[in-house]
Amino acid sequence: MVESLLSVVVPCYNEQESLPETHRRLTSVLEQIERLNYEIVYVDDGSKDDSPGMLRRMQQDDGHVRVLQFSRNFGHQIAITAGIEHCCGDAVVVIDADLQDPPELIPEMIERWRRGADVVYGTRRERPDESTFKRWTAKAFYRIINSLSDIPIPLDSGDFRLMNRRAVNSLLAMPERDRFVRGMVAWVGFRQEPVFYNRSGRFAGTTKYPLSKMIRFATDGIISFSFVPLRIASWVGFTAAGLAFAGILYALIMRLVTDQWVPGWTLLFIALLFMGGIQLVFLGIIGQYLGRVYGEVKRRPLYIVSERIGFPESAAGQGEGR
Ligand code: UDP
Ligand code: MG
Repeated sequence: MVESLLSVVVPCYNEQESLPETHRRLTSVLEQIERLNYEIVYVDDGSKDDSPGMLRRMQQDDGHVRVLQFSRNFGHQIAITAGIEHCCGDAVVVIDADLQDPPELIPEMIERWRRGADVVYGTRRERPDESTFKRWTAKAFYRIINSLSDIPIPLDSGDFRLMNRRAVNSLLAMPERDRFVRGMVAWVGFRQEPVFYNRSGRFAGTTKYPLSKMIRFATDGIISFSFVPLRIASWVGFTAAGLAFAGILYALIMRLVTDQWVPGWTLLFIALLFMGGIQLVFLGIIGQYLGRVYGEVKRRPLYIVSERIGFPESAAGQGEGR
């Protein structure tokens, strides 16, 4: 019987405490799946702890391991992209290094892929071990982005998913830099199916997503997948311009027809502040889009690889990302 190759992509940033256990659990799950060969691609996103050394040792002990070493921290979404770009599996599973996504779900993903699904995405039913703040912000975020986006993005689903080769190739054909991977996979289409799980807490260490990175991630998601903020800006802008025009007419009429002119300060101040405020807010929104356009036109590579260990010579992606 023909064996297929599964690539598991694991982005890692300062995960020295979790890595041995993550590798042990992944391996014990993957070894048991029939008719399947596998490789595990660890992408070290410029860790400052001993993760790189640890990955190197893991690679020496286990021929299934490939290590992609970034020259610095490029971020979770870029690390995922690089891993996907450098692997050569018939299907690819992306999974976090902290065991919040259970490797034990992979056999069910494989089963669904073998039955014809192109993408199988993990959907979190509950996340009992995470902070109330994280749960609520995540819940709100998925709902907001879904209502703003033109294409439906599955609720409560992270990057834990399986993609088959044609879904992967379509994803890699998207050259954009502000990569909101879960939205991009939804955009690709094909047959996508959910599998449900309860998201546990981190195996070890603390989150590598401080509030600043969360905000950046959420803005990227919304701006890459929606023009609604721009549309709101233009509608409110038009309304404000209309009101301002009415105000001008009012002022002219009052000036020409009546002689009660001086008591107009309130209106003047309100109009001034209102217009100024609106303009600043929407200049900001336009600036967000413009900044991203600027990032795109620079056409820098997405990431820089400092070392590749364990990859077969023929594997794609010899150096930097596009
Ligand atoms: N990660 C990464 N680069 C970063 C931040 C995070 O590769 O700049 C990895 C991290 O090692 C983990 C995954 O992305 O495997 C998810 O990060 P984390 O668990 O800290 O996020 P949370 O689960 O708290 O949202
Ligand atoms: Mg986590």
